[in-house]
Amino acid sequence: MHEPTLLWTTTAHWLAACCFAPVLAHLHIAATVDSPGEIARYFMITAVQVAIVALLFRPMESRWPVERWTDRRHTAIDRSYTLIKLFGVLPLFTYLVLSPLTSLLGGGGDDAAGLFSLQGGIPWLARHPVLLFIAYYAVYDFVYYVVHRLQHAIPWWWALHSLHHSQRQLSCWSNDRDHYLDDLLEALIVAAVSLLIGVAPTDYALLVLSGELLQNLDHANIRLRFGPVLEKLLVDPRYHRLHHMRVDPERPQLHACNYAFIFPLWDILFGTALFGEAARPTGVGDPMVDADNRRGIVAQQLYTLRRFWGAVRCRAGWRPGDVAFSEDFVPVAVADIDLRQLEASQTPLPASRAGYPGDREPAH
Ligand SMILES: [Zn+2]
Ligand SMILES: [Zn+2]
Repeated sequence: MHEPTLLWTTTAHWLAACCFAPVLAHLHIAATVDSPGEIARYFMITAVQVAIVALLFRPMESRWPVERWTDRRHTAIDRSYTLIKLFGVLPLFTYLVLSPLTSLLGGGGDDAAGLFSLQGGIPWLARHPVLLFIAYYAVYDFVYYVVHRLQHAIPWWWALHSLHHSQRQLSCWSNDRDHYLDDLLEALIVAAVSLLIGVAPTDYALLVLSGELLQNLDHANIRLRFGPVLEKLLVDPRYHRLHHMRVDPERPQLHACNYAFIFPLWDILFGTALFGEAARPTGVGDPMVDADNRRGIVAQQLYTLRRFWGAVRCRAGWRPGDVAFSEDFVPVAVADIDLRQLEASQTPLPASRAGYPGDREPAH
């Protein structure tokens, strides 16, 4: 065995035997939870991913920034969100909720066969693991695309998702800045579909993780684009930054674009793709949402919940369309708001922008 492989396996065995097995035994859940070895593998992959973000993406932000910042004050909170999600929320959900639930329902295992199992429906796919993985991935990414469209279209869901968009300093840590209720809704939908098509619960966390690194890169403040061909196949930083653009009062629909997470194909098929537009400042024009930037994690979670509660209780919270929030957390249609006046009343936007190679000039 090669030395790095041996080191990896030895560490995994050690972590499994000395850390996870005793904890599972202590909690009396060893029988319902995946093997300690699986959990050790998850944490080791996560540690490598966080190291790539910290040691590669982060220095690239300093070397080739799209936006030049005098400080990185607002990025620290997003780093905390990432560490809490990857080392806490996601493994807890996967190993303590999802896999016991699946074994309770009689599913899971290596031969996981969902109701609409891809292997079952298209048997030759089972003989081509790479194609099978891409097929799983395509379904998984499409479900995310649909969920993401709804997060923007339904006001009570936007009340939650707007926390992700309120960040003015979008960085390599911003991917996991989410409301935990939003995360839970999203995870339940995506995990349910994954199980239906036959993804084993142990593979669910790995499926999420493998998309995570690309999404960390896509939020990064790096002047990187994949080029005219590859950018149509795989979401790149320029593409996702356009999704985060703050509303342009002159072109109020421009920001309704680029919802895809991994494959731009979904945006191209459904007419929501935007390529080649100059990078605009990120964030949300609505002052009630922009105020998230002055709060810590607990306050952000609570205020977002108040927006959600204000929206979910009234009819306007269920009527599809762009909304902002009044001071008593009631959704107000953006069509009824003077966006130019709103923009003029906001804190000036930061950042000299270097833009991406190949960008169009800004429209004003
Ligand atoms: Zn979004
Ligand atoms: Zn994002």
